[in-house]
Amino acid sequence: MQYLSTRDRSIKLNAAQAIAQGLSRDGGLFVPEDFPILPKNAVERLMPMSYVDRAVSIMKLFLEDFSEDELRGYAERAYGPAGFDHPDVAPVVKTDDNTSFLELFHGPTSAFKDMALQMLPHLLSASLDKTGETRDVCILVATSGDTGKAALEGFCDVPRTKILVFYPEDGVSDVQKLQMTTQCGDNVGVSAVAGNFDDAQNGVKAIFSDEGIREKLNEKGYFLSSANSINWGRLLPQIVYYFSAYCDLIKNGCIENGEPVNFCVPTGNFGNILAGFYAKKMGLPIGRLICASNTNDVLTEFIETGVYNKNRAFMTTISPSMDILISSNLERLIFELSGCDDARIRHYMKLLSEDGRYAVSAEIMAGIKSDFSCGSCTDAETKDTVRDVFKTYGYLIDTHTAVAYNVLQKYRKISGDKTRTVIVSTASPFKFCDSVLHALDTAAAASNGAVSGLELIDRLEEISGVKAPLPLKALKGKKVRFNQCVSKDDMQAVVEHFLI
Ligand SMILES: *Cc1c(COP(=O)(O)O)cnc(C)c1O
Repeated sequence: MQYLSTRDRSIKLNAAQAIAQGLSRDGGLFVPEDFPILPKNAVERLMPMSYVDRAVSIMKLFLEDFSEDELRGYAERAYGPAGFDHPDVAPVVKTDDNTSFLELFHGPTSAFKDMALQMLPHLLSASLDKTGETRDVCILVATSGDTGKAALEGFCDVPRTKILVFYPEDGVSDVQKLQMTTQCGDNVGVSAVAGNFDDAQNGVKAIFSDEGIREKLNEKGYFLSSANSINWGRLLPQIVYYFSAYCDLIKNGCIENGEPVNFCVPTGNFGNILAGFYAKKMGLPIGRLICASNTNDVLTEFIETGVYNKNRAFMTTISPSMDILISSNLERLIFELSGCDDARIRHYMKLLSEDGRYAVSAEIMAGIKSDFSCGSCTDAETKDTVRDVFKTYGYLIDTHTAVAYNVLQKYRKISGDKTRTVIVSTASPFKFCDSVLHALDTAAAASNGAVSGLELIDRLEEISGVKAPLPLKALKGKKVRFNQCVSKDDMQAVVEHFLI
């Protein structure tokens, strides 16, 4: 199978090349030339399999330059019991007759980014060997929270890779900071940057576009890459859990094989929900894909009107991993729906960078309407939802998952759609203790104003009767390895020093 760039179809690479390169040189994203359509009995065959075998079965269809044994080796390391605290890896939990939750937070960092970032490093490391790349890769990440830790954990001690993460000194939670500064591994580095997330991100962008530093690193035998969700090797592992969830719904007696299921996805960069769209394209019986946003509802507006407009205020919310104005992976969806019209994508992306806005054609709009629904929700509604779900079902959810649940209720009211719907649950509630505690018990949370993040974990355990993930509990006894904080102007020096 070949991969082409969304902005230039004449660029064609094999899977290893697409993964090693990450982003196409024309700025486009790599997409498969065509999608494998699964035979009718595919779900039956996947059903008795473990998550690891399901992952191998799906991923091998897209990775012809990797052997099945190689893929099984990566999947066992990625989704084994050392990293995931649930035997099903991504279990499905039923709360009522037509609602279930797909829990994607049982990995080492307690957020759904692990589903992809436990796999990507193995694919990337092997892709360097397969493409004859002689340099090693250095992953640079600017993070506002979840991605940095998940990338550190995924790349930790993976051959031919190094990873350096910058986080804003005052822009991450106590728990998130400790998760990163205590990271083990010989190929990892972490540094705080004085300032906010934009400072850290602009610093990383400046390093990526600096010819001088690229030349220097080249001489030392390194090239720079990023771990964000534009790499095909990060998107592909996410297709797997849609199939896995469908199989488990049949196994649990919730649906009959062939029956349509909706998925409601808390969305930021459009990577997660796009993987659902691809699963549907491959033949999985998915009904509606419901795109849920917080008050950064640029995607809600887009799906309703066909106009993507990033010229709006950025909101800081209690579902911070969805605070985003440019959803990069939307480019891949529009490419598919335009009939792979690369010229059109070039045009839209030029408008986006020049005017911050573009409007898609009626044809693309029809495609969107046939698969996607959408909705958004405020912070107050998010908190009410966390509390209501806990009160009604005794089920504790995080703020991102609550956005999806809230949007699903609104969707059901308007549409009357009673199809079984899976809420894609993207983080452990213990990762966002502060907001979840506020939602459950305002008085208790308020009286804890001066308490550190780690004590909030204990508090939430007490109030909810739910056990926190062990890696979060274990932060208490961990040694801080990285405590430097640099100014934005010194980030380049940090990179050079790291790669000596
Ligand atoms: C990254 C993230 C999201 C958004 O996922 P996208 O693939 O960017 O749409 C939602 N929830 C949590 C907890 C996340 O970490």
